[in-house]
Order: sequence, then C-alpha cells, then structure tokens
Amino acid sequence: MSTYDVAVIGSGPGGYVAAIRCAQLGLKTAIIEKYATMGGTCLNVGCIPSKALLDSSHHYEDALKHFEDHGIEIPGEVKLNLEKMMSRKASVVEQTTKGIEFLMDKNKIDTFQGMGSFKDKTHINIASAEGEDQTIEAKHTIIATGSKPASLPFIDIDKERVITSTEALKLKEVPKHMLVIGGGVIGLELGQVYKRLGADVTVIEYMDRIIPTMDAAQSKELTKVMKKQKVKFAVSHKVTSVENTGDEVVVKATDKKGKEVEFKGDYCLVSVGRKPFTNGLAADNAGVKLNDRGQVEVNEHLQTNVENIYAIGDVIKGAMLAHKAEEEGVFVAETIAGQKPHIDYNLIPGVVYTWPEVASVGKTEEQLKEDKIEYTSGQFPMRALGRSRASGDTDGFVKILTNKETDEVLGVHMVGARVADLIAEAVTAMEFRASAEDISRMSHAHPTYAEAVKEAALAATGNRALHV
Ligand code: FAD
Ligand code: NAD
Repeated sequence: MSTYDVAVIGSGPGGYVAAIRCAQLGLKTAIIEKYATMGGTCLNVGCIPSKALLDSSHHYEDALKHFEDHGIEIPGEVKLNLEKMMSRKASVVEQTTKGIEFLMDKNKIDTFQGMGSFKDKTHINIASAEGEDQTIEAKHTIIATGSKPASLPFIDIDKERVITSTEALKLKEVPKHMLVIGGGVIGLELGQVYKRLGADVTVIEYMDRIIPTMDAAQSKELTKVMKKQKVKFAVSHKVTSVENTGDEVVVKATDKKGKEVEFKGDYCLVSVGRKPFTNGLAADNAGVKLNDRGQVEVNEHLQTNVENIYAIGDVIKGAMLAHKAEEEGVFVAETIAGQKPHIDYNLIPGVVYTWPEVASVGKTEEQLKEDKIEYTSGQFPMRALGRSRASGDTDGFVKILTNKETDEVLGVHMVGARVADLIAEAVTAMEFRASAEDISRMSHAHPTYAEAVKEAALAATGNRALHV
C-alpha cells in the first residue's frame, strides 16, 4: 500500500493548488480525482468555459453591433457558428486541464483517477470507473470535493430544457427565449452569453435586485446596462413551479403583490446557487462532521473535527470562488507543514464577468450602514475617462468607501470595462491598509481605466476629482 504525507481528494482549484504547495514544501503528496480530467468545476464546467463563451459572444456582438461605429464594414452577413464557438471553448478547457496534469507531474504528485472514500481517518479507498479498488494511506487528508448546482425542491432538472450551468455551457442551439431563475453570477454571465447570440432572455430573481450580495449601486448600474441590452428582469418574484411541456418551459412565480405571473420560454436555466458535494466520500467512516447545510465543518485552521483531516473550497463555508479555494489550498498545505499562514476573507474580491464587468472588495455601503460605521463615499463615472470614450465603454463607475474618521479604504466597488483586472489595485491598497489619500497621490498612467480609481479616491477625500 502506498503511503503519503498528504492525500488531496478533488482536483479543483482548491485541491490541485493545495497539492502543489504540499509538494513544494517537501510533503509526499497524492491527489485523487473521480473524473478523467483534472481541474474540477472551475476548469471543466465553470470559470474557464464560461469565460471562453463570454469572450467569443462578446466578439460576435461587437462584429454585429459595434464594428460599424469604428469604421469597420463587413461585406455580407456576420454569421454565428455555434458549433465552432463550442469547440473552441472545449479546446480552451482541454489545454487548461492538461496544464494541471503537467503541473502534477512537474511537482512529482501521484495522481489517482477514481472516487475517493474514507475507510477510516488514515486510509482512503479509490474506486476506478472500471470497478477496481485500491487503498492508500495518508497522514493528512485535504477534502476538496467542491460543489454541484443547487435547485429548488419542485424543479425537475431534465438537462434538456430545464438546465443548469453545466448544460448551458454546451447547448447545441441558441434558445429562442431563455428563462433564467436566479439573477446571481451564473444567471447574468450565461444569460448575457445567450442574449448576445440572439436569444431573448428573462431573468427571474427572488430578491428585489440582481447580484443582491454586491453593493446596491452595482446592481442598479448593471440592471440599467443589461436592460439597454434588452435583457428582461422580473425581480421580487418567487418561482413556484417549472414545467417542461415538450418544446416549451412554463415558469410560474408570484410577484411582490402576491399575483401569479407566468413566463414561457424554450429553455430554463436554473442558477439559484450551488451546494457542497460530499456524496460518496464516506466522511462518516473517518468521523468527519458535516453541518446542517451539508458543508464539511472546519475550525479557523480549516481543520475538521478529525485532527489530521482538513477541508477547503466550495465544500466548506464562505464564498464559492476559485481564488478563495486556492488561498485555502495554500493555507492548509502551509499549516500541515508547520507554518502559520493567514487569509483575510474580507479581501477576497468578487467579480461578475458580464460586460461591463462588475468587481468588488471589502464592505458594501449596505454592510457599513448595518455595522453603523461612519463612512465617506467617492464615486467617479467611467464616461468621464478619455480611455472609456476611446474604446466606447462608457458605462459604469468606481466607488470607494472610506472610514470617515481615518480615511482608510473599507470597500471598493466597480462596474466597467476590465474592472475584473482593476480590482487588484484595490485589493493591494486595502492589504496595505491604504487611505483614499494614499491612492489619490499615486500616479496612474493616462489614458487608462485605472484613472477612475485615482479619481474616485480624490472624490472620497473631499470632492477633489479632477475630470468631473
Ligand atoms: P471544485 O472545482 O468543484 O472541484 C472539486 C473536484 O472534486 C471535482 O473535480 C470533483 O469531481 C472532485 N470530487 C468530488 N468528490 C470526489 C471524490 N469523493 N473523490 C474524487 N474526486 C472527487 N469562480 C471564480 O472565482 N471565478 C469565476 O469566474 C467562476 N465562474 C464559474 C462559472 C460557473 C458556470 C460555475 C459553475 C462556477 C464558477 N466559479 C467561478 C466557481 C468555481 O468554479 C468554484 O468556486 C471552484 O471550482 C471551487 O473549487 P473547489 O476546488 O473547491 O471545487
Ligand atoms: P448566486 O448565489 O450567485 O446567485 C443565485 C441567485 O438566485 C441569487 O440572486 C438568489 O437571490 C437567487 N435565488 C435563490 N433562490 C431563488 C428562487 N427561488 N427564485 C428566484 N431566485 C432565486 O449563485 P449562482 O449564480 O448559481 O452561482 C453559484 C456559485 O458559483 C456562486 O457562489 C458564485 O460565487 C459561483 N460563481 C462565481 C462566478 C464568478 O466569480 N464570476 C461565476 C459563476 C459562478
């Protein structure tokens, strides 16, 4: 029987990063993945394929609607080849997952394909798809088994007409009318993909605004822009039934006045969140406790109730984000190696990759109000930037929230072109506990979208923005 210092169960961004860091620290490491490809949700059916389709559909929309503004004329019709778009996406995924195999080899990590399940707290059974079993022994185990799409109790996800993100990433036709249940990250990103490709899209959201956990100003701006793109929204609607009638899906919901409203479409994307995945892990055999939400329960060291077993990523509490899982992977590897790592969860940024993009870090205005923290807000509109006018991306803003007394930056919320990348400046500033004054005195290259960060900082320090 092979023996390891660390066995990692699950090869998503949490698991594979944890394995690499363990190997870097000199720990003999194994990683177990039930699927034939490495990389988990993120690389196979999440971050990477969705971004590939967002990029492709963005090019298509530009060719259809915006090239002309730039003086580019396309003789003949701009045509969509969905099959080719999907096969490009598949090859991006393939290259990326192969990259993880390469990294496992390079770091001398033993990879096992099969379902990992605990026999006891130091032995893991690996059952291959061919029905062969083998057992390995591990001093420490990291559970990184991720998550699966959640649904509502009355919905039958038939994977044909009533689908989750996994099916939405590989549709063979553009829906005529896609109904999207849930105006969160997945609903808006994939809704926008199919809107650009020609579908009508209606987003049905339970809360009174889309992306309800982000700053309200971001919800408002994204709603405004997506409405201009002709996406329809039904907020404050509680879905009560979803029925596939053959070629049509009928969704019934009650609006905030209690009136029943009916929506009809040919596809219905259910994007109401994700749930932790522990099926088949046999956590019981090791004595590992789950909480009532089905998450593996961990302490501040991400250690389960069993001393030598840790858990990271989507299967534990907190934001379901690839970079959060990665931070936790490094954290646990370093903890096992005897180091004292640290994660500041307040500084894990959140991004929605619609266009314009939406990005946030730190506290929202709503949270500051709730926590009764006195704050100052400085906001700068993207349309006032030369860079935005040059590219034609004038929607959005940068908003900086600071402590009223000390000027320390407490939250940064952005909507606009490339803010997914711009948010890194805000994370760096907050990591070093910068004040708005600090940011306002840093030179930002002209013309860039980043100038909006400096201008918002100037606005937060007493109305000193220069270009509004
Ligand atoms: P996962 O990536 O879910 O990996 C878990 C792995 O464990 C899987 O490969 C699974 O097969 C394997 N596994 C489970 N049980 C066992 C077992 N018993 N034995 C062996 N293997 C097992 N996040 C972002 O930060 N940015 C984005 O842009 C983004 N886009 C997304 C788009 C979509 C459509 C979706 C669905 C998600 C997106 N996410 C994004 C979220 C992101 O994918 C997850 O937060 C991330 O993948 C979590 O990583 P993880 O390592 O915890 O788990
Ligand atoms: P989400 O939590 O982002 O959004 C779910 C939405 O569904 C919420 O707005 C919620 O209010 C709504 N909802 C819940 N129940 C409802 C109901 N009965 N009727 C109508 N609306 C309802 O979840 P998601 O979009 O499914 O994404 C799942 C996870 O994947 C998220 O945690 C997200 O962080 C992650 N993800 C991240 C990215 C990214 O970082 N860009 C992209 C995709 C997914």
